[in-house]
Amino acid sequence: MDVKWYGINALEFRCADGTDFMVDMYVSRNREKLNIPSEVDKYVSSTPKWVLMTHAHWDHLADMPQIIAKTGTLLYASATACNIMRAVEVPEENLREIHYGDHLEFPGNITVDVLESRHKGYSGEATKYDVPPTRESLVSAGNWRCGEVFAFLIHADGRCILNSGSANFLDEATEPVVCDEFFCGISRWEDGFPQMLERNVRFQTLIPTHHDEFTRPLSEFSLRGDLPRLQEAIPNLVAKEIPPLVWKSLPL
Ligand SMILES: [Zn+2]
Repeated sequence: MDVKWYGINALEFRCADGTDFMVDMYVSRNREKLNIPSEVDKYVSSTPKWVLMTHAHWDHLADMPQIIAKTGTLLYASATACNIMRAVEVPEENLREIHYGDHLEFPGNITVDVLESRHKGYSGEATKYDVPPTRESLVSAGNWRCGEVFAFLIHADGRCILNSGSANFLDEATEPVVCDEFFCGISRWEDGFPQMLERNVRFQTLIPTHHDEFTRPLSEFSLRGDLPRLQEAIPNLVAKEIPPLVWKSLPL
């Protein structure tokens, strides 16, 4: 199983049988324009069978209308994210609404469990769209509401991969989630996150995401200090970084 990181929480996975799928695929990295077609054309060159979406914020979702138009892929996303896609006239046949607790099965023995999670700074139910917003409202980044927040537990090629897109958890589980690699969004993590991480996940390797300067273009990629801060807070943390835009084989 190979993986390529595109900055933020944008990930592409490629299985041994050639099956390609993505998570939170977003490369435009611009809070004003939201989607820059030339950036998507430059960086997104493969055709994913499907794309999983952890939540509906612009820096995860805003390139998907173009990626769907270009590749015909299927988007597995929350009701809120699907309503945003409906507002910008993404065809219904490309949308698959998913919910907490769903178990998805794909060809090639790939399964995805849709876990309930939380976004950093969780502010409750007010962040959802039960119906599509107006198209005009979506020119503003702030109207790409978070919506339901998922973590994905992916079984593929004999590996078990967990991904969460924001530095928070649904901190209620009695048993930690067990995985090989934990692709963990650590963007500007706040007090309490290291303890929550230790309570909620048992991993072999943490691979950080969303710790880059995400409003600069990929051509000017740079990291922020979120990982060194986390390593200071958890001295025995087994973390490995992967460089952007380079295929890596798992395990690292
Ligand atoms: Zn977010």
